Amino acid sequence: MSNTLRAVRGMNDMLPADAGLWGRFEATVRDWLKSYGYQELRTPILEHTALFKRAIGEVTDIVEKEMYTFEDALNGENLTLRPEGTASCVRAAIENNLLFDGGKRLWYMGPMFRHERPQKGRYRQFHQVGIEALGHAGPDLDIEHLLMGARLWKQLGLAEFVALEINSLGGAESRARHRQKLIEYFEAHKAQLDEDAQRRLYANPLRILDTKNPAMQDLVAAAPKLMDELDDEARRHFDAVQQGLHDAGIAFKVNPRLVRGLDYYNYTVYEWVTDKLGAQGTVCAGGRYDGLVAQLGGKPAPACGFAMGVERLLALMQEAGTPLVDDPLDAYVVNVGEAAARFALQAAERLRDAGLKVALHCGGGSFKSQMKKADASGARFALIIGDDEAQAGEASVKPLRAEGEQQRVKLDNVAQLIKD
Ligand code: ATP
Ligand code: MG
Repeated sequence: MSNTLRAVRGMNDMLPADAGLWGRFEATVRDWLKSYGYQELRTPILEHTALFKRAIGEVTDIVEKEMYTFEDALNGENLTLRPEGTASCVRAAIENNLLFDGGKRLWYMGPMFRHERPQKGRYRQFHQVGIEALGHAGPDLDIEHLLMGARLWKQLGLAEFVALEINSLGGAESRARHRQKLIEYFEAHKAQLDEDAQRRLYANPLRILDTKNPAMQDLVAAAPKLMDELDDEARRHFDAVQQGLHDAGIAFKVNPRLVRGLDYYNYTVYEWVTDKLGAQGTVCAGGRYDGLVAQLGGKPAPACGFAMGVERLLALMQEAGTPLVDDPLDAYVVNVGEAAARFALQAAERLRDAGLKVALHCGGGSFKSQMKKADASGARFALIIGDDEAQAGEASVKPLRAEGEQQRVKLDNVAQLIKD
């Protein structure tokens, strides 16, 4: 029996070998968000459980089965690790009065937690990048968000791997009419409902439509469609979104089965999907949630947003062979001897002052073993310092990745030599 401690199941380390991929993704995303004028918001990872119950809905997979909820042993508060970002964003916007001077375009990035069965593309700690536009009635904002998605996929080299599906969930009245029809339909087929569906039949029949149970797919496919209940305003909004997509040349499919797993949506909902990742094919999902701000106690304000799954997008980037930015060290400082070690510390700092990326060899060892480490570090140059060089205030610069002679120069001239 080993007593080695392991990470919590379904929660992953990001290892240095993957840092290049994450770094490229995050840098691209930050630039892309800036190019649309979105501002970053960071919220705590823990919130009061009541927030998610009220925002996401009591009768949803997330709230019923997937939340990490616990009582704070110190003060008895009921807390939950955030399973998604929208509820926290809206809570923070209300609490800090962010909408006092009009609409806000916000974004966030970070870990989310859901107690699901871990498998490829589905983890218990995973990461999302999300945007929320608060205070804009659309449909221009809906369209902006879809254009943003399309642009990001292009920038990540994923354009040919993802497809857009959209739907409209209508407003409150269309939902109420549809709800009644759904209940009647499912009551007539009660024997075919699984346990979840039985329980949700009266509490939240819309949720039955996004069941993942294969045995219920035919039943759900033939259920009454919300699309047939849309009132004029919802219809106009949906038409305008489709027109905007046509104008921008973005291909899409209307999927009347798309209802999303969270209760706060109305009007436009959509998913960006891929067939390259097996069952976990949704890489980004979102839509409009005009009622949520008021529902969480704020002054009513329309809103829409989306969240993307970072792990799934990174897997897709790997699948697509997206090239990584190469960002190697400029120099690895080899030092042999006591005086050399002291001088090397200063030399490394001086090179960093000049803007170079430098790793200093620490812990001594032979020249040969240090040169091996220099090579393995990926650095472009080895900076070689012996007691001799230290005495003279100089260093030998040896190219590691290209042909070229080793040159001994004054420390002052090293940075220039490397930059050239
Ligand atoms: P799914 O249908 O795959 O369970 P969802 O509808 O629960 O997804 P959302 O709540 O809309 O997902 O979250 C937005 C995105 O976050 C998803 O499209 C997906 O890319 C990602 N995501 C959701 N849950 C997980 C998870 N457990 N592990 C990894 N990524 C996830
Ligand atoms: Mg889910």
